[in-house]
Amino acid sequence: MAKRQITGGIDLGGTKIQAVVMDKGHEPLGEARRPTPTDGGPEAVAEAMAGAIAEAAEQAGVNSSALAGVGVGSPGTVDADAGTVASASNLPDWSEAYPLASRLQKLLGPEVRLGNDVQVAVDAEFELGAAKEHDSLLGVFWGTGVGGGLILSGQPWLGRGSGAEFGHMVVNNGGARCPCGRRGCVEAYAGRGAMEARAKKLVEKGDKTKLFKIMKEKGRQRLQSGVWAEALEKEDEMAIELIDRAVDALGAGIASAVNLLDIGAVVIGGGLGTRLGEPYVGKIREAIEPHLFVADDPPEVSVAALGDLGGAIGATLLFS
Ligand SMILES: [Zn+2]
Repeated sequence: MAKRQITGGIDLGGTKIQAVVMDKGHEPLGEARRPTPTDGGPEAVAEAMAGAIAEAAEQAGVNSSALAGVGVGSPGTVDADAGTVASASNLPDWSEAYPLASRLQKLLGPEVRLGNDVQVAVDAEFELGAAKEHDSLLGVFWGTGVGGGLILSGQPWLGRGSGAEFGHMVVNNGGARCPCGRRGCVEAYAGRGAMEARAKKLVEKGDKTKLFKIMKEKGRQRLQSGVWAEALEKEDEMAIELIDRAVDALGAGIASAVNLLDIGAVVIGGGLGTRLGEPYVGKIREAIEPHLFVADDPPEVSVAALGDLGGAIGATLLFS
């Protein structure tokens, strides 16, 4: 009897762990999400990940030990061959290399493969999502930072290993300070972290905004995507100004990448990208246009079709 191949995928994020269980046809059969533990180190995170996969597998009517494999999209420095993750700065006490693959394998049973979180999400959009009709793709993940992923002629492009850092393309020489320590990067204007720091500075200078009031009402500690979305709905001037600035930086960065590589498809994902969705992707399209060297053949720019599940779905593709 042919065994039905069911694989698990986990998107490990700074605030949440998203797990999905899929069959060969890439239909989600079960999904579960957990908050990312804020203490207890890598061990606590690995246990929460195993719990999320077990729950998703149960929904799919299988035991997690029967999965053909479990893929993980992880932040930080991922060594896929060694099965380790290091320098995951958004995760608790996670600077040293931690053997995540072998630990999860021990907890769950099946083989575990690791990939970079942004790259697996880009692969998912390329194989199954918004860019499936294209052979080259720039993925832009607009969230706390601005992540990037690149597929050229069907192959992931990482240069000598650390390429596709779209967020650190320089769009304003000598400009705003980026969380990476340099100046003028896309992320210095468009990253949610940098935007929050800028909003705080403006408030200290006496400018008014509803952003922090909305944050408190929502019981949040940070200006998360939903906070920005609500402030925009309420036509908060500071939110509009900072998002416009972000859109301009994203547009200039994307246009520069397209001028260099002539890519046909750009997918906008990430927390802010998927939350703000089409009207803002439309604004990004408009911001790209004036910078395009070949203006009459712009790239197709779309919202990530797989939304929030893209990272977890992409992680299952580590077994295809
Ligand atoms: Zn930077």
